[in-house]
Amino acid sequence: MNLHEYQGKEILHSFGVEIQRGIVATTASEAVDAAKKLTEDTGTGWHVIKAQVHAGGRGKGGGVKLAKNLQEVEALAGQIIGMNLITPQTSAEGKKVHQVLIAEDVYYPGDSEPEEYYMSVLLDRAKGRNMIMYSTEGGMDIETVAEETPHLIFTEEIDPAVGLLPFQARRIAFNLGLSGTAFKKMTRFVTALFTAYIKSDSSLFEINPVLKTSDDRIIAVDAKVTLDDSALFRHKDYAALRDEREENPMEVEARAVGLNYVDLDGNVGCMVNGAGLAMATMDLIKQAGGEPANFLDVGGTADAERVEAAFKIILKDPSVKAILVNIFGGIVRCDRVAQGIVDAYKNMGNINVPIIVRLQGTNADIAKDIIDNSGLDVQSAIEFQEAADKVQAVMS
Ligand code: GDP
Ligand code: MN
Repeated sequence: MNLHEYQGKEILHSFGVEIQRGIVATTASEAVDAAKKLTEDTGTGWHVIKAQVHAGGRGKGGGVKLAKNLQEVEALAGQIIGMNLITPQTSAEGKKVHQVLIAEDVYYPGDSEPEEYYMSVLLDRAKGRNMIMYSTEGGMDIETVAEETPHLIFTEEIDPAVGLLPFQARRIAFNLGLSGTAFKKMTRFVTALFTAYIKSDSSLFEINPVLKTSDDRIIAVDAKVTLDDSALFRHKDYAALRDEREENPMEVEARAVGLNYVDLDGNVGCMVNGAGLAMATMDLIKQAGGEPANFLDVGGTADAERVEAAFKIILKDPSVKAILVNIFGGIVRCDRVAQGIVDAYKNMGNINVPIIVRLQGTNADIAKDIIDNSGLDVQSAIEFQEAADKVQAVMS
Protein backbone atom coordinates (compact mmCIF):
# COMPACT_ATOMS: atom_id res chain seq x y z
CA MET A 1 0.00 0.00 0.00
CA ASN A 2 1.42 3.37 -1.00
CA LEU A 3 1.15 6.39 1.27
CA HIS A 4 1.06 10.12 0.75
CA GLU A 5 4.15 12.10 1.64
CA TYR A 6 2.51 13.60 4.74
CA GLN A 7 1.48 10.15 6.02
CA GLY A 8 4.93 8.70 5.39
CA LYS A 9 6.50 11.61 7.26
CA GLU A 10 4.18 11.04 10.23
CA ILE A 11 5.38 7.45 10.46
CA LEU A 12 9.03 8.53 10.21
CA HIS A 13 8.50 11.18 12.87
CA SER A 14 6.89 8.66 15.23
CA PHE A 15 10.16 6.70 15.15
CA GLY A 16 12.31 9.75 15.83
CA VAL A 17 13.39 10.61 12.28
CA GLU A 18 13.73 14.36 11.87
CA ILE A 19 11.32 15.61 9.19
CA GLN A 20 10.36 18.85 7.50
CA ARG A 21 7.28 19.72 9.56
CA GLY A 22 3.96 20.33 7.86
CA ILE A 23 0.18 20.32 8.10
CA VAL A 24 -2.17 18.94 5.46
CA ALA A 25 -4.90 21.19 4.01
CA THR A 26 -7.80 20.64 1.62
CA THR A 27 -8.74 24.30 1.00
CA ALA A 28 -6.83 27.56 0.58
CA SER A 29 -8.13 28.91 3.88
CA GLU A 30 -7.07 25.75 5.73
CA ALA A 31 -3.67 26.26 4.09
CA VAL A 32 -3.41 29.77 5.56
CA ASP A 33 -4.34 28.49 9.03
CA ALA A 34 -1.75 25.75 8.67
CA ALA A 35 0.93 28.25 7.68
CA LYS A 36 0.11 30.49 10.68
CA LYS A 37 0.33 27.51 13.01
CA LEU A 38 3.68 26.44 11.52
CA THR A 39 5.06 29.95 11.91
CA GLU A 40 4.15 29.85 15.61
CA ASP A 41 5.90 26.49 16.00
CA THR A 42 8.96 26.98 13.81
CA GLY A 43 9.45 30.72 13.52
CA THR A 44 9.72 30.64 9.73
CA GLY A 45 7.46 32.85 7.62
CA TRP A 46 8.30 30.94 4.43
CA HIS A 47 6.43 27.79 3.47
CA VAL A 48 6.35 25.21 0.71
CA ILE A 49 3.03 24.09 -0.74
CA LYS A 50 3.26 20.45 -1.81
CA ALA A 51 0.62 18.56 -3.80
CA GLN A 52 -0.25 15.23 -2.13
CA VAL A 53 -0.64 12.59 -4.83
CA HIS A 54 0.77 9.10 -5.17
CA ALA A 55 3.44 10.05 -7.71
CA GLY A 56 6.95 11.42 -7.60
CA GLY A 57 8.42 14.23 -9.68
CA ARG A 58 5.83 16.67 -8.30
CA GLY A 59 8.36 19.49 -8.24
CA LYS A 60 8.94 19.14 -12.00
CA GLY A 61 5.19 19.14 -12.66
CA GLY A 62 4.53 22.36 -10.74
CA GLY A 63 3.15 20.62 -7.65
CA VAL A 64 5.74 22.03 -5.21
CA LYS A 65 5.83 25.82 -4.77
CA LEU A 66 7.55 28.17 -2.36
CA ALA A 67 5.52 30.92 -0.64
CA LYS A 68 7.15 33.80 1.21
CA ASN A 69 4.02 35.18 2.89
CA LEU A 70 0.42 34.24 3.71
CA GLN A 71 -1.00 35.83 0.55
CA GLU A 72 1.21 33.58 -1.52
CA VAL A 73 0.27 30.55 0.58
CA GLU A 74 -3.40 31.23 -0.12
CA ALA A 75 -2.91 31.88 -3.84
CA LEU A 76 -0.63 28.88 -4.46
CA ALA A 77 -2.69 26.45 -2.38
CA GLY A 78 -5.77 27.62 -4.31
CA GLN A 79 -3.94 26.93 -7.57
CA ILE A 80 -2.60 23.51 -6.65
CA ILE A 81 -5.71 22.08 -4.94
CA GLY A 82 -7.99 20.80 -7.69
CA MET A 83 -5.33 20.90 -10.41
CA ASN A 84 -4.53 17.90 -12.58
CA LEU A 85 -0.89 17.35 -11.80
CA ILE A 86 1.15 15.85 -14.60
CA THR A 87 4.61 14.61 -13.62
CA PRO A 88 7.14 12.26 -15.25
CA GLN A 89 5.60 9.50 -13.09
CA THR A 90 1.89 10.01 -13.85
CA SER A 91 -0.08 9.13 -16.97
CA ALA A 92 -0.64 11.83 -19.59
CA GLU A 93 -3.94 12.79 -17.93
CA GLY A 94 -2.17 13.42 -14.63
CA LYS A 95 -3.56 13.07 -11.12
CA LYS A 96 -6.18 15.20 -9.47
CA VAL A 97 -4.86 16.98 -6.36
CA HIS A 98 -7.26 16.77 -3.41
CA GLN A 99 -4.95 18.05 -0.69
CA VAL A 100 -1.68 19.87 -0.14
CA LEU A 101 0.95 19.70 2.55
CA ILE A 102 1.89 23.12 3.92
CA ALA A 103 5.45 22.65 5.15
CA GLU A 104 8.06 24.80 6.84
CA ASP A 105 10.70 26.09 4.44
CA VAL A 106 13.81 24.24 5.52
CA TYR A 107 15.99 25.72 2.81
CA TYR A 108 16.41 28.86 4.88
CA PRO A 109 16.15 31.88 2.60
CA GLY A 110 19.68 32.87 1.77
CA ASP A 111 21.15 29.56 2.94
CA SER A 112 24.04 29.26 0.54
CA GLU A 113 25.04 25.68 1.18
CA PRO A 114 22.19 23.27 1.76
CA GLU A 115 23.20 19.77 0.70
CA GLU A 116 20.68 17.31 -0.76
CA TYR A 117 21.25 13.56 -0.44
CA TYR A 118 19.31 10.52 -1.63
CA MET A 119 18.45 7.67 0.72
CA SER A 120 16.21 4.65 0.42
CA VAL A 121 15.62 1.47 2.40
CA LEU A 122 14.36 -1.51 0.46
CA LEU A 123 14.51 -5.25 0.04
CA ASP A 124 17.21 -6.67 -2.20
CA ARG A 125 15.25 -9.69 -3.44
CA ALA A 126 18.27 -11.41 -5.00
CA LYS A 127 20.15 -11.36 -1.70
CA GLY A 128 17.07 -11.76 0.48
CA ARG A 129 18.22 -8.86 2.64
CA ASN A 130 17.22 -5.30 3.30
CA MET A 131 19.59 -2.62 2.17
CA ILE A 132 20.11 1.08 2.49
CA MET A 133 20.87 2.76 -0.81
CA TYR A 134 22.19 6.30 -0.71
CA SER A 135 23.92 8.94 -2.74
CA THR A 136 25.46 12.37 -2.50
CA GLU A 137 23.35 13.28 -5.54
CA GLY A 138 19.98 14.00 -3.93
CA GLY A 139 17.06 15.95 -5.30
CA MET A 140 17.27 14.40 -8.75
CA ASP A 141 16.01 11.15 -10.26
CA ILE A 142 18.00 8.26 -8.85
CA GLU A 143 17.61 6.50 -12.22
CA THR A 144 19.50 9.38 -13.85
CA VAL A 145 22.23 9.20 -11.21
CA ALA A 146 22.49 5.43 -11.75
CA GLU A 147 22.92 5.97 -15.47
CA GLU A 148 25.30 8.92 -15.48
CA THR A 149 27.30 8.62 -12.26
CA PRO A 150 26.80 5.11 -10.87
CA HIS A 151 29.91 5.44 -8.69
CA LEU A 152 28.03 8.03 -6.61
CA ILE A 153 25.47 5.45 -5.45
CA PHE A 154 26.38 3.40 -2.38
CA THR A 155 24.63 0.47 -0.73
CA GLU A 156 24.76 -0.98 2.74
CA GLU A 157 23.46 -4.51 3.13
CA ILE A 158 21.78 -5.31 6.45
CA ASP A 159 22.15 -8.74 8.04
CA PRO A 160 18.67 -9.68 9.29
CA ALA A 161 20.10 -11.53 12.29
CA VAL A 162 21.87 -8.50 13.77
CA GLY A 163 20.19 -5.51 12.14
CA LEU A 164 21.89 -2.25 11.25
CA LEU A 165 25.21 -2.03 13.10
CA PRO A 166 26.65 1.25 14.39
CA PHE A 167 29.70 1.06 12.11
CA GLN A 168 27.39 0.81 9.10
CA ALA A 169 25.55 4.00 10.06
CA ARG A 170 28.96 5.69 10.48
CA ARG A 171 30.13 4.41 7.10
CA ILE A 172 27.07 5.95 5.46
CA ALA A 173 27.72 9.34 7.11
CA PHE A 174 31.38 9.09 6.08
CA ASN A 175 30.62 8.23 2.45
CA LEU A 176 28.27 11.23 2.31
CA GLY A 177 31.29 13.38 3.17
CA LEU A 178 30.06 14.51 6.58
CA SER A 179 31.98 15.40 9.72
CA GLY A 180 31.35 16.87 13.18
CA THR A 181 27.75 17.52 14.21
CA ALA A 182 26.32 16.65 10.80
CA PHE A 183 28.11 13.28 10.93
CA LYS A 184 26.55 12.43 14.31
CA LYS A 185 23.12 13.63 13.22
CA MET A 186 23.33 11.53 10.06
CA THR A 187 24.17 8.34 11.99
CA ARG A 188 21.14 9.00 14.20
CA PHE A 189 18.99 9.75 11.17
CA VAL A 190 19.98 6.50 9.43
CA THR A 191 19.47 4.43 12.58
CA ALA A 192 16.01 5.88 13.24
CA LEU A 193 15.10 5.49 9.57
CA PHE A 194 16.02 1.82 9.48
CA THR A 195 14.16 1.16 12.74
CA ALA A 196 11.08 2.84 11.29
CA TYR A 197 11.32 0.70 8.14
CA ILE A 198 11.49 -2.55 10.13
CA LYS A 199 8.89 -1.66 12.77
CA SER A 200 6.35 -0.37 10.25
CA ASP A 201 6.76 -3.49 8.05
CA SER A 202 7.47 -1.36 5.02
CA SER A 203 8.76 -2.61 1.70
CA LEU A 204 10.12 0.75 0.53
CA PHE A 205 11.25 4.02 2.02
CA GLU A 206 12.60 6.59 -0.40
CA ILE A 207 13.73 9.89 1.05
CA ASN A 208 14.76 12.24 -1.72
CA PRO A 209 16.02 14.68 -0.72
CA VAL A 210 17.51 14.22 2.72
CA LEU A 211 18.66 17.74 3.52
CA LYS A 212 21.67 19.02 5.44
CA THR A 213 21.09 22.64 6.40
CA SER A 214 23.91 25.12 6.95
CA ASP A 215 23.38 24.72 10.72
CA ASP A 216 23.88 20.96 10.38
CA ARG A 217 20.36 19.64 10.76
CA ILE A 218 19.63 16.43 8.84
CA ILE A 219 16.00 16.45 7.67
CA ALA A 220 13.71 14.24 5.57
CA VAL A 221 12.21 16.72 3.08
CA ASP A 222 10.29 14.13 1.06
CA ALA A 223 9.03 10.63 1.93
CA LYS A 224 7.82 7.88 -0.32
CA VAL A 225 6.61 5.00 1.83
CA THR A 226 5.20 1.67 0.67
CA LEU A 227 3.77 -0.59 3.36
CA ASP A 228 3.87 -4.36 2.92
CA ASP A 229 0.24 -5.39 2.25
CA SER A 230 0.82 -8.83 3.72
CA ALA A 231 1.79 -7.27 7.07
CA LEU A 232 -1.09 -4.80 7.30
CA PHE A 233 -2.97 -7.12 9.64
CA ARG A 234 -0.30 -6.34 12.25
CA HIS A 235 -0.91 -2.59 11.94
CA LYS A 236 -4.65 -2.04 12.25
CA ASP A 237 -4.10 1.71 12.66
CA TYR A 238 -2.48 1.96 9.20
CA ALA A 239 -5.70 0.85 7.46
CA ALA A 240 -7.03 4.42 7.76
CA LEU A 241 -4.07 5.65 5.68
CA ARG A 242 -5.39 4.06 2.52
CA ASP A 243 -6.54 6.61 -0.07
CA GLU A 244 -8.68 4.71 -2.58
CA ARG A 245 -8.87 7.78 -4.85
CA GLU A 246 -5.22 7.10 -5.69
CA GLU A 247 -5.69 3.41 -6.46
CA ASN A 248 -6.78 1.43 -9.51
CA PRO A 249 -10.64 1.32 -9.31
CA MET A 250 -10.78 -2.34 -10.40
CA GLU A 251 -8.27 -3.33 -7.72
CA VAL A 252 -10.29 -1.44 -5.11
CA GLU A 253 -13.48 -3.26 -6.17
CA ALA A 254 -11.75 -6.64 -6.16
CA ARG A 255 -10.34 -6.09 -2.67
CA ALA A 256 -13.82 -5.18 -1.39
CA VAL A 257 -15.10 -8.62 -2.40
CA GLY A 258 -11.98 -10.40 -1.19
CA LEU A 259 -10.43 -11.18 -4.57
CA ASN A 260 -6.71 -10.96 -5.13
CA TYR A 261 -6.53 -8.94 -8.38
CA VAL A 262 -3.75 -7.03 -10.10
CA ASP A 263 -4.51 -5.06 -13.27
CA LEU A 264 -2.03 -5.63 -16.13
CA ASP A 265 -1.63 -4.30 -19.68
CA GLY A 266 -2.58 -7.34 -21.79
CA ASN A 267 -5.75 -8.58 -23.50
CA VAL A 268 -6.47 -12.04 -22.08
CA GLY A 269 -8.34 -11.95 -18.79
CA CYS A 270 -7.61 -14.79 -16.39
CA MET A 271 -9.49 -16.25 -13.49
CA VAL A 272 -7.55 -18.81 -11.49
CA ASN A 273 -7.53 -20.34 -8.03
CA GLY A 274 -4.19 -20.20 -6.25
CA ALA A 275 -1.37 -17.75 -6.81
CA GLY A 276 1.03 -20.35 -8.22
CA LEU A 277 -1.46 -21.63 -10.76
CA ALA A 278 -2.30 -18.01 -11.62
CA MET A 279 1.33 -17.32 -12.46
CA ALA A 280 1.64 -20.55 -14.48
CA THR A 281 -1.52 -19.55 -16.36
CA MET A 282 -0.06 -16.16 -17.20
CA ASP A 283 3.01 -17.94 -18.60
CA LEU A 284 0.72 -20.17 -20.65
CA ILE A 285 -1.10 -17.18 -22.09
CA LYS A 286 2.20 -15.59 -23.08
CA GLN A 287 3.36 -18.81 -24.69
CA ALA A 288 0.16 -18.91 -26.72
CA GLY A 289 1.00 -15.42 -28.03
CA GLY A 290 -1.35 -13.45 -25.79
CA GLU A 291 -0.67 -11.01 -22.96
CA PRO A 292 -2.39 -11.42 -19.59
CA ALA A 293 -4.79 -8.57 -18.78
CA ASN A 294 -4.65 -9.30 -15.09
CA PHE A 295 -3.56 -11.53 -12.28
CA LEU A 296 -6.60 -12.88 -10.44
CA ASP A 297 -6.65 -15.45 -7.68
CA VAL A 298 -10.25 -16.24 -6.70
CA GLY A 299 -9.08 -18.29 -3.74
CA GLY A 300 -10.37 -21.57 -2.43
CA THR A 301 -14.12 -20.95 -2.54
CA ALA A 302 -14.97 -20.50 -6.21
CA ASP A 303 -18.77 -20.46 -5.88
CA ALA A 304 -21.20 -18.78 -8.29
CA GLU A 305 -21.12 -15.44 -6.46
CA ARG A 306 -17.35 -15.19 -6.43
CA VAL A 307 -17.08 -16.32 -10.03
CA GLU A 308 -19.63 -13.70 -11.02
CA ALA A 309 -17.84 -10.97 -9.07
CA ALA A 310 -14.59 -11.99 -10.74
CA PHE A 311 -16.15 -12.00 -14.23
CA LYS A 312 -17.56 -8.53 -13.63
CA ILE A 313 -14.19 -7.11 -12.67
CA ILE A 314 -12.38 -8.75 -15.59
CA LEU A 315 -15.00 -7.50 -18.05
CA LYS A 316 -14.68 -3.90 -16.84
CA ASP A 317 -11.28 -3.84 -18.51
CA PRO A 318 -12.02 -2.75 -22.11
CA SER A 319 -8.82 -4.32 -23.44
CA VAL A 320 -9.95 -7.86 -22.53
CA LYS A 321 -10.55 -9.85 -25.74
CA ALA A 322 -10.85 -13.35 -24.24
CA ILE A 323 -11.07 -14.91 -20.79
CA LEU A 324 -9.28 -18.04 -19.65
CA VAL A 325 -10.66 -19.70 -16.54
CA ASN A 326 -8.20 -22.16 -15.07
CA ILE A 327 -9.39 -23.78 -11.86
CA PHE A 328 -7.98 -26.78 -10.06
CA GLY A 329 -10.62 -28.62 -8.07
CA GLY A 330 -8.88 -29.87 -4.99
CA ILE A 331 -11.08 -28.93 -2.07
CA VAL A 332 -13.58 -27.13 -4.27
CA ARG A 333 -15.40 -29.50 -6.68
CA CYS A 334 -15.11 -28.76 -10.42
CA ASP A 335 -18.82 -29.39 -11.07
CA ARG A 336 -19.77 -26.70 -8.55
CA VAL A 337 -17.37 -24.25 -10.17
CA ALA A 338 -18.77 -25.14 -13.61
CA GLN A 339 -22.28 -24.50 -12.35
CA GLY A 340 -21.06 -21.22 -10.87
CA ILE A 341 -19.65 -20.18 -14.24
CA VAL A 342 -22.84 -21.09 -16.08
CA ASP A 343 -25.01 -19.25 -13.51
CA ALA A 344 -22.77 -16.21 -13.56
CA TYR A 345 -22.82 -16.18 -17.35
CA LYS A 346 -26.62 -16.35 -17.44
CA ASN A 347 -26.99 -13.68 -14.72
CA MET A 348 -24.68 -11.29 -16.49
CA GLY A 349 -26.28 -11.58 -19.91
CA ASN A 350 -24.32 -9.99 -22.70
CA ILE A 351 -20.78 -11.27 -22.26
CA ASN A 352 -19.38 -10.85 -25.72
CA VAL A 353 -15.85 -12.12 -25.35
CA PRO A 354 -15.00 -15.80 -25.83
CA ILE A 355 -14.46 -17.77 -22.64
CA ILE A 356 -12.25 -20.85 -22.37
CA VAL A 357 -12.72 -22.88 -19.23
CA ARG A 358 -10.27 -25.46 -17.99
CA LEU A 359 -11.41 -27.34 -14.93
CA GLN A 360 -9.15 -30.07 -13.63
CA GLY A 361 -9.38 -32.21 -10.51
CA THR A 362 -12.35 -33.57 -8.58
CA ASN A 363 -15.36 -34.20 -10.88
CA ALA A 364 -13.64 -32.59 -13.88
CA ASP A 365 -15.59 -34.80 -16.31
CA ILE A 366 -18.97 -33.83 -14.86
CA ALA A 367 -17.87 -30.20 -15.00
CA LYS A 368 -16.98 -30.51 -18.68
CA ASP A 369 -20.45 -31.92 -19.39
CA ILE A 370 -22.07 -29.01 -17.56
CA ILE A 371 -20.13 -26.48 -19.64
CA ASP A 372 -20.62 -28.33 -22.93
CA ASN A 373 -24.38 -28.79 -22.39
CA SER A 374 -25.03 -25.26 -21.11
CA GLY A 375 -25.76 -23.96 -24.61
CA LEU A 376 -23.50 -20.98 -23.85
CA ASP A 377 -20.59 -19.66 -25.84
CA VAL A 378 -18.06 -21.19 -23.48
CA GLN A 379 -15.38 -23.64 -24.58
CA SER A 380 -14.13 -26.28 -22.21
CA ALA A 381 -10.73 -27.90 -21.92
CA ILE A 382 -9.27 -30.43 -19.55
CA GLU A 383 -5.60 -30.31 -20.48
CA PHE A 384 -3.43 -27.23 -19.99
CA GLN A 385 -2.16 -27.32 -23.59
CA GLU A 386 -5.67 -27.73 -24.95
CA ALA A 387 -6.69 -24.56 -23.12
CA ALA A 388 -3.66 -22.74 -24.52
CA ASP A 389 -4.49 -23.84 -28.07
CA LYS A 390 -8.05 -22.60 -27.68
CA VAL A 391 -6.85 -19.23 -26.40
CA GLN A 392 -4.52 -18.99 -29.39
CA ALA A 393 -7.35 -19.88 -31.75
CA VAL A 394 -9.73 -17.22 -30.46
CA MET A 395 -7.04 -14.56 -30.37
CA SER A 396 -5.86 -15.03 -33.94
P1 GDP B 1 9.04 15.48 -5.66
O1 GDP B 1 9.35 16.45 -6.76
O2 GDP B 1 7.72 14.82 -5.85
O3 GDP B 1 10.14 14.51 -5.44
O4 GDP B 1 8.85 16.36 -4.32
P2 GDP B 1 9.91 16.83 -3.20
O5 GDP B 1 9.25 16.78 -1.89
O6 GDP B 1 11.19 16.09 -3.32
O7 GDP B 1 10.15 18.34 -3.57
C1 GDP B 1 10.71 18.73 -4.81
C2 GDP B 1 11.79 19.78 -4.61
O8 GDP B 1 11.24 20.93 -3.99
C3 GDP B 1 12.92 19.37 -3.69
O9 GDP B 1 13.91 18.64 -4.35
C4 GDP B 1 13.45 20.70 -3.21
O10 GDP B 1 14.42 21.17 -4.12
C5 GDP B 1 12.22 21.59 -3.25
N1 GDP B 1 11.78 21.84 -1.86
C6 GDP B 1 11.15 20.97 -1.04
N2 GDP B 1 10.98 21.52 0.18
C7 GDP B 1 11.49 22.76 0.11
C8 GDP B 1 11.63 23.84 1.05
O11 GDP B 1 11.28 23.77 2.22
N3 GDP B 1 12.22 24.99 0.58
C9 GDP B 1 12.66 25.14 -0.69
N4 GDP B 1 13.20 26.29 -1.06
N5 GDP B 1 12.56 24.13 -1.59
C10 GDP B 1 12.00 22.97 -1.20
MN1 MN C 1 11.40 13.99 -3.92
